[in-house]
Amino acid sequence: MNRYSYSYDIAVVGGGPAGLAAAITAARKSKKVVIIEKNGYLGGNLTIGIPPLGFLDENGRQCIAGFGEEFIERLKADGACYGHRYCPKHNSVSNLDAEYVKIAAFEMCRDAGVDVLLHLETLSVECADGRIKSALFYGKCNQVTITADIFIDCTGDGDLSYLAGCQYEKGRGEKGELMPPTVMCTIEGVDDSKLLDHIEQHPDEMRPMCATIDTPTGYDAAYFKADPNYIFVGMTTLFDKLKKEGKNPVARGNMIVINGVHKGQMYVNTTRLLHVDATDVLDLTRAEIEGHLQLKKLVEVFRQYVPGFENCYISSIAPSLGVRETRRFLGERYVTYQDALSANVPDDTICLSGYKIDIHFDGPAGTLFQKVDKPFGVPYGALVSRDMNNLLFAGRNISVDEHVIGSTRVMSCCMAMGQAAGLGACMALDGNCPPKSVDIAALRSELLAQGAILSME
Ligand SMILES: Cc1cc2nc3c(=O)[nH]c(=O)nc-3n(C[C@H](O)[C@H](O)[C@H](O)COP(=O)(O)OP(=O)(O)OC[C@H]3O[C@@H](n4cnc5c(N)ncnc54)[C@H](O)[C@@H]3O)c2cc1C
Repeated sequence: MNRYSYSYDIAVVGGGPAGLAAAITAARKSKKVVIIEKNGYLGGNLTIGIPPLGFLDENGRQCIAGFGEEFIERLKADGACYGHRYCPKHNSVSNLDAEYVKIAAFEMCRDAGVDVLLHLETLSVECADGRIKSALFYGKCNQVTITADIFIDCTGDGDLSYLAGCQYEKGRGEKGELMPPTVMCTIEGVDDSKLLDHIEQHPDEMRPMCATIDTPTGYDAAYFKADPNYIFVGMTTLFDKLKKEGKNPVARGNMIVINGVHKGQMYVNTTRLLHVDATDVLDLTRAEIEGHLQLKKLVEVFRQYVPGFENCYISSIAPSLGVRETRRFLGERYVTYQDALSANVPDDTICLSGYKIDIHFDGPAGTLFQKVDKPFGVPYGALVSRDMNNLLFAGRNISVDEHVIGSTRVMSCCMAMGQAAGLGACMALDGNCPPKSVDIAALRSELLAQGAILSME
C-alpha cells in the first residue's frame, strides 16, 4: 500500500461549495492549503444540477456576494450560467451547467495555488490537547496522512469533526427525522414550450402540493416564458391523478425540474428516498438503488403524461446521492429559528442568509417552506468548533438548529461561509491564536473588502 504524509497550514476536507470557497480564499492569502475530496472531481452538490438559490432575498435584493458572486461570474463568462434571476418562489435562481462547474473548480484551485487530493475519504483523526493533530485519508489502497495547523470541515456530513469526537445534533423532533435525499438526473430532448403552454391553459397544475406551501403570485407560465433561467415546480393535478391511479412512482405530489443552460436539457429533482440516514452506508446503498429505479419509472411517466417531455431521455445520473441533511456540529455560537425569524444580524455576522426555511419532510408529500422576511446573520462562532481548538466548519454541517439549516444549507450561503472560514483560518495563523480568538472586526473588514455582504442596511 502507498503511504504518503504531507504537512499544511490549512487542510480543507470536502470540495463542495463551502470547501472550494474556503480553500481558494485561504490559498489566495499565501497560505499552504490542501483540499481533500472523496470524489474524482470538485464541486459537491454544485455538480448535480441544482442551481444555487438565495443570492437574492425575498424582495429581490442581493444578500450574498463575495466568492459566490465571483464563481457565478466566472461561469457566466464561459456561457455556463445564466446569472441570478428573481424567483417569486425561490427568492432567486442561478441555473448553471453542472458539468462545467467541475472544470471551473479545478481552474480556480490551480490559479489560487490550492493542492488538490482526490479519491480520498477520511478514515481517522488523531487529536491531542484539544486539537486535531492529523487526519488519515484512505483511497484506492493508498493512505495519506495530513498534518495541518488548522482543519476546515466542509464534508457536509461533518465526517472529520465526527471522527474527532465533536458534539453534534442530527434531525428534527424526538425521532431525529432527516430530510429525504434525492438521486438527481439530467434529461435531454425536452421541448419546454409545450409544458409552459400547458400550464398557461391549466393553471391548476401550479397548485401547491401541501398546506405548508403557497403558490406565490407571479410564479406562472408568463414568468417561465420570459426567461429560461427557472426552476419549475408544478404539475400537481397530474401527479394527484397519477397517485389515485397508483401510477406515481415517487413519494411526492409534483415534479421539480431545473431548466439547463443548453436547449432541451433539464435537471430532474423529483425522486424522494424516505427514511434514509445518509451517514449509514447501508441506508446510502438502499437510497442509491431505489433512486435509480425511481428515475426509470419517473422518466417513463414524464414521457407518457407531461407535455413537451415525449422524447426526453436520461443523459446522465448524478454520480452520488444528493444529501440534504445529516449532522450539525456545535460551535462557539448557535443560530436558532427565532434568530432567523427575527432577522437577527449580530455584530459578529460573517454572512447573511435570506433564503426560506425550506425543509422537506421525510414523508410522502410534505415540505415546510417558510418565508424569511429579511436576511438574518450567520455569526462567525457558528463556524468555530467548541470542542477542537484548530477546527472550523462551513456548509450544511454548521452550528444551527433543526429549522435554520433549512435556510443556511443553500449553496450561495455555503460559499459565503466557506469564504469566512478560509479567512478566519488565515487570521488565526497570522495572529498565532486559535480560530475562536481572531479579531472579528478585522475579519469582517476583510470580508467586506472581498465583496461580501454583511448587512442589508
Ligand atoms: C436534492 C437536493 C436539492 C437541493 N437543491 C438545492 C437548490 O436548488 N439550491 C441550493 O442552493 N441548494 C440546494 N440543495 C442544498 C445544497 O446542495 C447543499 O446543502 C450544499 O451543497 C451543501 O454544501 P456543502 O459544501 O456543505 O456540502 P456538499 O455540497 O455536499 O459538498 C461536500 C463535499 O465533501 C465531500 N466529502 C464528503 N465526505 C467526505 C469525506 N469524508 N472525505 C472527503 N470528502 C468528503 C463530498 O464528496 C462533497 O464533494 C439541495 C440539496 C439536495 C440534496
